[in-house]
Amino acid sequence: MKILVVNCGSSSLKYQLFDMTDESVLAKGLVERIGIEGARIKHVKTGMDTVIKNTDIPNHKVAFKVVVEALLDENHGAIKSLDELSAVGHRVVHAGEKYAGSVIITQGVIDALEECVPLAPLHNPANLMGIYAVTEALPNIPQAGVFDTAFHQTMPGCAYMYGVPYHYYEKYKVRRYGFHGTSHFYVSRRAAEIVGKPVESLNIVTCHMGNGSSITAVKAGKSVDTSMGFSPLPGVIMGTRCGDVDALLVSFLAEQEGIDNKAMSHVLNKESGLLGISGISSDLRDIEEAADGGNQRAKLAEEMLFYGVKKYIGSYAAAMGGMDVLVFTAGIGENSARAREGICEGLEFMGVKIDREKNKVRGEERIISADDSKVKVIVIPTDEELVIARDTKRLVTDGK
Ligand code: ADP
Repeated sequence: MKILVVNCGSSSLKYQLFDMTDESVLAKGLVERIGIEGARIKHVKTGMDTVIKNTDIPNHKVAFKVVVEALLDENHGAIKSLDELSAVGHRVVHAGEKYAGSVIITQGVIDALEECVPLAPLHNPANLMGIYAVTEALPNIPQAGVFDTAFHQTMPGCAYMYGVPYHYYEKYKVRRYGFHGTSHFYVSRRAAEIVGKPVESLNIVTCHMGNGSSITAVKAGKSVDTSMGFSPLPGVIMGTRCGDVDALLVSFLAEQEGIDNKAMSHVLNKESGLLGISGISSDLRDIEEAADGGNQRAKLAEEMLFYGVKKYIGSYAAAMGGMDVLVFTAGIGENSARAREGICEGLEFMGVKIDREKNKVRGEERIISADDSKVKVIVIPTDEELVIARDTKRLVTDGK
């Protein structure tokens, strides 16, 4: 069974083609700059060199046609006919409170996702464009939606409600939703496999740290709290996002600067975080280099990140009544030994003891805690696409 996984952004379309008989990736790629000058597709058939083709790609429908052409290409393609494709799985960011798991896409699902557009104005419209593009090109193929918010639907009310008047929750669905759910789900399951215990018996804190970062408390396999909220803005400081701030800063700064909501949202989403504090870069590699060179603001940005993650770990251990496993994943979590060490420093009191030698790891699965550490600390490369492919396969074969 071959399954195509599609992840659409506002100007991009990422894809991976899986052979589900052994879960291998046959081909993958990225269409960039959709609707912008200089559009192109980067396609790789597994085991071969990357092929780059520059072509005019005005919208997602054309982008998907270009992907289909690449997949069927006789030199670097991976299928001979579209009949080989059994289903398409889509990453969709926001499903509100509607779906706590993945679903087969029907008109009813599309309507529900359209309703969620105000909750995720930057992401859901792009995800929907992907669904429309596939529906037009392959009208008879089953499609599944896998949602970033779904895994967090198990949070209790005390974790997801905000302390604003209750009628705003009823009227506007204002609450914590959480994101990166597919990644937190994947690494928590892998962590349980690695330590050889059922996930139901473990308290796990998962740190997904990339350009966007979120920390999640996974108790008995379920998300019970997570650091992102109504939007992907809060939590720890990120590449360009501010993370947690006093809500009154927003109106205060808007007034002082004489800027409107849209401009304020740009400041908080695009000009803040590591970039805003350091004034140098949103990329932790640049921050680390500048901090080593004596740049005090870069040092501060790094310390704010480590301190913020440490506080979440402590509070989630408290929320779960203890922590057995701590997981690091995504760009920073998988690659920065320095971030992992900086975050874990001082957590020895709660049984976290990193082995510096084992921590010298990049992008591979490894237990990095000392043998006598009470808490197992593990680096796990995330694989959201694999979860999407597995859910899609399950839905088309079992119907649930
Ligand atoms: P996204 O959230 O966009 O999917 P990624 O998970 O790919 O992002 O993470 C990208 C971030 O990972 C980069 O901005 C960079 O800060 C960080 N990163 C990647 N490699 C390293 C490294 N070797 N050391 C420190 N940070 C790294």
